[in-house]
Amino acid sequence: MHLDMSTISIVAIAITAVLGLVLIFNWARQGGASFVGMWGLAMLLISVGIVMANVSRGGFLDAFVLGQAVMILGAGVKWRACREFSQRDSSLLYIFVGPVILLLAAGTGLVETFNDRLMLVCVLTAAYNFAAATELAYDHGEQLPSRWLAILLLALTSASFLSWLPLIVIKPIPELGTVFYSSWFPIVILITLLLRTALAFVVLAMAKERQEQEQRVDALTDSLTGLPNRRALFEVADAVAQRRILGGTPVSVLILDLDHFKDTNDSYGHSLGDEVLKVFAMTAEKNLKVNSIVGRLGGEEFAAILPGVEAAAAVEAAERVRRAFSRSAAFVNGLAIGATVSVGVATDTEVDADLSNLFRRADAALYIAKRAGRNQVAFLESDEDMVVAAQCTAIRTSPSRLRPAVAAVRPDRARSA
Ligand code: GH3
Ligand code: MG
Ligand code: MG
Repeated sequence: MHLDMSTISIVAIAITAVLGLVLIFNWARQGGASFVGMWGLAMLLISVGIVMANVSRGGFLDAFVLGQAVMILGAGVKWRACREFSQRDSSLLYIFVGPVILLLAAGTGLVETFNDRLMLVCVLTAAYNFAAATELAYDHGEQLPSRWLAILLLALTSASFLSWLPLIVIKPIPELGTVFYSSWFPIVILITLLLRTALAFVVLAMAKERQEQEQRVDALTDSLTGLPNRRALFEVADAVAQRRILGGTPVSVLILDLDHFKDTNDSYGHSLGDEVLKVFAMTAEKNLKVNSIVGRLGGEEFAAILPGVEAAAAVEAAERVRRAFSRSAAFVNGLAIGATVSVGVATDTEVDADLSNLFRRADAALYIAKRAGRNQVAFLESDEDMVVAAQCTAIRTSPSRLRPAVAAVRPDRARSA
């Protein structure tokens, strides 16, 4: 198979430039993902570099060296794009280090022959590609499968440039003119082009995956408090239920509803009401254990799922949140708001396919807490107690305090309460 260097160069210039423009167009259209635009710029720089290197007629600091410097600059911009992707800032100066080293080395005669210059170009380009790969390897806590493909392709690009070094030693290219007769040069150029093309598509895929993930997070987050929203809570509930089928540990649910919140809004205005909701969200998150999930069901109603937490500990957690909120909402924005919260608690130790019963029971317990005068915690042990509890008016704070209340209506259940 004969690979014609001129044809390969023209194809490389066209493909690299077109892909660069596609990436820049994509960035401009979406308005976000600046790393896509930067990657496009890198591709354009590389195609311009190839044009310059091809029109060169030899000599030092001529179009060939300048073209190579522009190509290395392109590799530097790719590295900078990866930095942008990782949201890690760095000085723009680093992208010029590689090109400046080449220009200085060629200008001062440090690398005199075509072979020597080619070696330096390989090392600098490989270094930028390797740095770009390691930049993407940082854990961002994001599930982006295409990121791993990008790391692999960048590492392969770096390795492919380094593989030129032994080839230069074994089959040297003494001067620019002989590039066209080299047995290996057209092949490595073609490999580089294939890797560059694949990377451009992977960069687009990464941007799309990140955008989809951001949209998913938005769809599951309450915009006012930043807590998981109703949908997210029920997704968690499903996941917890699935895990319990395998593990069978207890799970508790709290439903928390701010007291007389309508009055708070009416007295102090809606925006202060919003502030109170934010204060509550922060207080609840701070006072629940790390593996608990608290979210906003809607309005001034919140729920928390406490996997692996028994009844007594769940009531204790609810009581902790209640007390903390009465302190943190005593004054909001310098105003004596004195907001409070009522909490309904339910626990399930049986393996159950979904948590909807538990939510219903916690809701019934909340109703009891409200009826009992608000700013308190109520616990319901079983579904039958929901009927019983509807008749109770003074159930407070802990299973032990629940006992007399339940005993009044169902003496047989009071022992286990
Ligand atoms: P209770 O103690 O029985 O729970 O009384 P409440 O006033 O808290 O309950 P009610 O359901 O009557 O009122 C809830 C209020 O919450 C009414 C609504 O205006 C307010 N609300 C719902 N969502 C928001 C919100 O996002 N921001 C603000 N500021 N208020 C909200
Ligand atoms: Mg309320
Ligand atoms: Mg409510």
